[in-house]
Amino acid sequence: MARIVLKFGGTSVADIERIRTVARIVQREVADGHEVAVVVSAMAGVTNQLASWTTEISRMHDAREYDAVVTSGEQVTSGLLALALQDFGIEARSWLAWQLPFRTDGVHGNARIDAIATDGIGERLTRGQVAVVAGFQGLGPDNRLTTLGRGGSDTSAVALAAALAADRCDIYTDVDGVYTCDPRIVTGARKIDRITYEEMLELASQGARVLHPRSVALAMRYAVRLQVLSSFSSAPGTLVVGEEEIMEQQSVTGIAYSPDEAKITLRAVRDRPGVAGTIFGALADAAINVDMIVQNVSEDGETTDLTFTVSRSDLDRAVPVLKRLTDEIGFTDVLADASVAKISVVGVGMRSQPGVAKIMFQTLADRGINIEVISTSEIKVSVLIADDYTELALRALHTAYGLDMAS
Ligand code: ASP
Ligand code: MG
Repeated sequence: MARIVLKFGGTSVADIERIRTVARIVQREVADGHEVAVVVSAMAGVTNQLASWTTEISRMHDAREYDAVVTSGEQVTSGLLALALQDFGIEARSWLAWQLPFRTDGVHGNARIDAIATDGIGERLTRGQVAVVAGFQGLGPDNRLTTLGRGGSDTSAVALAAALAADRCDIYTDVDGVYTCDPRIVTGARKIDRITYEEMLELASQGARVLHPRSVALAMRYAVRLQVLSSFSSAPGTLVVGEEEIMEQQSVTGIAYSPDEAKITLRAVRDRPGVAGTIFGALADAAINVDMIVQNVSEDGETTDLTFTVSRSDLDRAVPVLKRLTDEIGFTDVLADASVAKISVVGVGMRSQPGVAKIMFQTLADRGINIEVISTSEIKVSVLIADDYTELALRALHTAYGLDMAS
């Protein structure tokens, strides 16, 4: 007998029939004798709808009221799933964040979890009652509802699994696992049986949309055994585990891409201490995240070009912030390019196997694809390219690293 947390995303609870399918999956786990807590998202599309109503009704944005509105999606699905389970003769009840409570900080719209009180829910689980917990929501220090950021119900599930010391956390979604690359683009992409937390974190942060990056970071910290699988098929999924559970590492485990990128170049920035601090400080003050950064050696010792990337959705806000610094910092131009994409190859095997970057650069060069910016970590190499070449680059790299499915 184990204690498990199951999480179902929006497409898995998209309508009444699918919620019944979810109830059957839960029923199987209960029949196997497990203690089961379930975390649910809102029905597919509902959170978008709710969020758009908040902007439609008022131009003032009170994030506390936004949270009051958007948390309702998960309230509906948690109640409906509890009803479906009861209908199957299973003892079940819904739990909203405030009922546990599921405590977060006060950053409405993007809150972090502080602590989860598990006394009540744990006691019900040991008695055999299924707990259906509304994901995505929390209770802030002001005793008002918060949300964990879009896609945050994965994080709710992993946090609950950690707090309940669950043996497993199964994330049910509409794909049957984590793939070596997006199978809609690379037809030879394969499902990965086991992947390390670190690799999953890099892939999720670099654009693979299968898991919320924060959920992977939490799983790594608390050693929660994660599994990604589909509620639409019974195929085995992908296990996200510690590195010690994987025998031999390939140099590259997966390839991710992010189309949501924009490149900014500041021409002829004065080359003196404090300049980078001022530029990136101003962007940080405007809550704009910067990702890749390159600064060249200045040719004349006086000025240098500075290139970096931001989210494409932040570009229109970033440019005026930078232009306001023109006099203070002294640069000649702000160049913006929104037609770029970031491609990242990820694998813990990179640490011990040299030549991974060389294969990437060579493969792109052979296809005539220009690399605009490069950044690396111990287990990742990312490049920025013109976004028209995204598909070509992904397919070529997938083949070059020997990831294609044997045909
Ligand atoms: N329903 C929320 C969203 O759409 C949370 C989630 O699905 O993870 O962002
Ligand atoms: Mg999701």
